[in-house]
Amino acid sequence: MATGKNKGQKCSFCGRDKRDTLLLIAGVEGHICEACVEQAYEIVNDELGNSKTKTKSDFSFSLPKDATPAIIKNYLDQYIIGQTEAKKYLSVSVYNHYKRLNQTTHDDVEIEKSNILFVGQTGTGKTLLAKTIAKFLNVPFAIVDATVFTEAGYVGEDVESMLSRLLQAADYNVDAAGKGIVYIDEIDKIARKRDNPSITRDVSGEGVQQALLKMLEGTEVNVPPYGGRKHPEQKMIQVNTSNILFIMGGAFDGIAKVIAKRLNTQVIGFNKTDASLKDEENLLKYISHQDLKSYGLIPELIGRMPVLTYLNPLDRETLVRILTEPKNALIKQYQKIFAIEDIKLVIKKDAVNFIAEKALEYKLGARGLRSILEAILTDAMFELPSQKDVKEFVVDSAYCADQLKRSAIAKLKVA
Ligand code: ADP
Repeated sequence: MATGKNKGQKCSFCGRDKRDTLLLIAGVEGHICEACVEQAYEIVNDELGNSKTKTKSDFSFSLPKDATPAIIKNYLDQYIIGQTEAKKYLSVSVYNHYKRLNQTTHDDVEIEKSNILFVGQTGTGKTLLAKTIAKFLNVPFAIVDATVFTEAGYVGEDVESMLSRLLQAADYNVDAAGKGIVYIDEIDKIARKRDNPSITRDVSGEGVQQALLKMLEGTEVNVPPYGGRKHPEQKMIQVNTSNILFIMGGAFDGIAKVIAKRLNTQVIGFNKTDASLKDEENLLKYISHQDLKSYGLIPELIGRMPVLTYLNPLDRETLVRILTEPKNALIKQYQKIFAIEDIKLVIKKDAVNFIAEKALEYKLGARGLRSILEAILTDAMFELPSQKDVKEFVVDSAYCADQLKRSAIAKLKVA
């Protein structure tokens, strides 16, 4: 290393003349001034700092640069059919959440976290929405069932164990876990049971809700790395939950009636005809936080789920679309399986309608579509690989009916 002394020498990076610099350092083929050294030092620090987290895991914890709520919704549209309202709410709150994480100015206005609550029957896409948004954001994601949580000392899991799952999903990168998403299913089932005289200890009710409340508010939690109960001798990992987005889901059975009561309208003949389904759809639109109180959730907890939205029950038309339209639609998946055997699988329109009808009839929702398809196609998947001359397999509604009749799933038929 030598300082340049000759007249006319310039910094090879910024081009400044030696006379304009405090120091010009000579290299083998050029020079660098003190200002460029400082800048280079900053760049090296920034880059190494970032890449350290990047190599620790592949999580990016931020919105793609050009993302807007509309772009987020477009992404969700590729995987989830219908549920426009829920998608809109989710897109906006995720967008705001990650804007909040990236805010650089710290003034008196602090943007609060927008934890989300999805209300909707089972199998309508609540988990799928949460999973898909986590994939879009490339953040760690964990699904937990609220019903397994109990107060410390009772059979069950500590509320903290949900963070163990998130840590596992984040490959134990605490930074990444701290910006992840947790989906808590069956939140409507953690009601406090104070009103029920037959239950002496409320092991899964209010205590669990209080613990959950702290987490939603944002706190430092000591997390057992491998889940389960905390043991005094176990080494804990500290996770801050302030920037974790919590998405909660629940069926809240009978909520339409609660809404109707509040709206002072009469709901007649629920779950009997298509018309009543429409009633339910329409009523969910009016859901408000106060409707949740009758499910035994403490008001503080309800208050910590500021974004409340709903998922519509799935009708036949939506089930048909779910079978055929999403990027990884079930029928596309089976066609791929058959294509590997060089067989073109054709599922006729009447067969698709038939399958959707059956899912409705068996009250299995979208979750049932797969079991029904499996029951219909298992024989073909068993036999065709050994029949080398078959190049096409066509499924119509008559074939579906025949296959289902012989399968155990037909026993599900509700009277
Ligand atoms: P929930 O969490 O509401 O009980 P899920 O999200 O687990 O329901 O849905 C179960 C399955 O049904 C999903 O894996 C998905 O294949 C399908 N499904 C449900 N709703 C939709 C939808 N609106 N669009 C596409 N697929 C759906």
